[in-house]
Amino acid sequence: IPKPKPKPKWLRVKLPVGKKYTELRSLVDKYDLHTICTSGSCPNMGECWSEGTATFMILGNICTRSCGFCGVKTGRPEQVDWDEPEKVARSIKLMKIKHAVVTSVDRDDLKDMGSIIWAETVKAIRRMNPATTLETLIPDFQGIEKHLDRIVAVSPEVVSHNMETVKRLTREVRIQAKYEQSLSVLKYLKNQGINRTKSGIMLGLGEQEDEVIQTLHDLRAADVDVVTIGQYLQPSKKHLPVKEFITPDQFEKYHLIGKDLGFKHVESGALVRSSYKAHKHIH
Ligand code: SF4
Ligand code: SF4
Repeated sequence: IPKPKPKPKWLRVKLPVGKKYTELRSLVDKYDLHTICTSGSCPNMGECWSEGTATFMILGNICTRSCGFCGVKTGRPEQVDWDEPEKVARSIKLMKIKHAVVTSVDRDDLKDMGSIIWAETVKAIRRMNPATTLETLIPDFQGIEKHLDRIVAVSPEVVSHNMETVKRLTREVRIQAKYEQSLSVLKYLKNQGINRTKSGIMLGLGEQEDEVIQTLHDLRAADVDVVTIGQYLQPSKKHLPVKEFITPDQFEKYHLIGKDLGFKHVESGALVRSSYKAHKHIH
């Protein structure tokens, strides 16, 4: 087995600090609030939390899919918790979140694929936190319009759906998902009147530069407004290996290409995650 590559210096993580971070951390621990920021030990916690941004995961923490890069458990998910929308809304209030990102596992086991809980969650957050803006980072719902329409109906400020990788690697990286289907989901959302659409890719999985550029073109062709480009890091030895650490210069190059292509925002850098600086992507 080849040894994992050592991490370059630009990936060394800054420890989260600051008063706001300490306050939120103790709230999260005390009330057992479920944020991806803490469960995935995201390197950007200090920064995001001090800006009032956090990411919440709904529909449980077991996914019906098994993407090769993802640290979420795969298996038979738990029963839907109909109190979840209220719980998430309350967490957002307690944490005084100004911009919330909501995401979920994929629920291919449910008839509505979880879209009803999705819509109820947005409504509950709006009721309890009228000033909070929202990004929903949604699954593909297998491209089924009536499920996507439930998201459109509650009109989050930003709707995102991640491509995760280039076309050639989609099968290996996202097993149950399809590149073209994800693009049509993004296009559909825009056509239905979503103001800001957004997508993210991870680099370092063996993609070539021209494939990354092609993906950026494809996203623009689907009228996507915001793109995030970050470094893939292997969550455990069972996950896909890191083939390459992308240099800061290369990230900068993609940033410029993205801006040239007309994206309204491009976040490109080793530590960029799909919700990184998310509050800036509304306008
Ligand atoms: Fe949380 Fe996303 Fe920020 Fe990480 S990048 S701290 S997961 S909001
Ligand atoms: Fe992870 Fe999402 Fe893939 Fe499920 S569908 S394994 S949560 S990336």
